[in-house]
Amino acid sequence: MEGAVSTILRAIDDPTREGLVDTPRRYVKFLREFTNPAPFEFTAFDGEGTDEMIVQTSISFYSLCEHHMAPFFGTGHIAYIPNGKIVGLSKLARCLDHYAGRLQNQERITTQVAERLMSELNPKGVAVVLQAEHLCMAMRGVCKRNTVTKTSKMLGVFKDDHKARAEFLGLITK
Ligand SMILES: [Zn+2]
Repeated sequence: MEGAVSTILRAIDDPTREGLVDTPRRYVKFLREFTNPAPFEFTAFDGEGTDEMIVQTSISFYSLCEHHMAPFFGTGHIAYIPNGKIVGLSKLARCLDHYAGRLQNQERITTQVAERLMSELNPKGVAVVLQAEHLCMAMRGVCKRNTVTKTSKMLGVFKDDHKARAEFLGLITK
């Protein structure tokens, strides 16, 4: 991998100059770390009767777009309505990091997080909204800065019941 990075550097710059000598090693370390987020256990607990929506908003995330390997980053909003089981709050953020920490597209992360929560917790519903800025759109191509791409995945009651969906959307826009 380091040799491959050196080859790229040679094509665009002088890889022997001081600032770049260690760059292949550093870049490979970054890629390895980023694409191997810390493992996590999806430990679920007895919900003790909790049957209202649990919502976490503005969870920061970073990812790399699979088309350009350029970063995209933003925030995620995740909700579920328990059906007996609840999960430790940090697990929602770890679930987002788990699927964001690889070459991705935003739509797929949104779906994977929602479906993972659905299969782990079997809740009445799951809602996931991600909003992100894509540097491949800001630094190149159409060159639009501060453009926010929003994606959503609604499962269970969030898909079928417009009141549940409206309550979630109301909570994440405050
Ligand atoms: Zn891209």
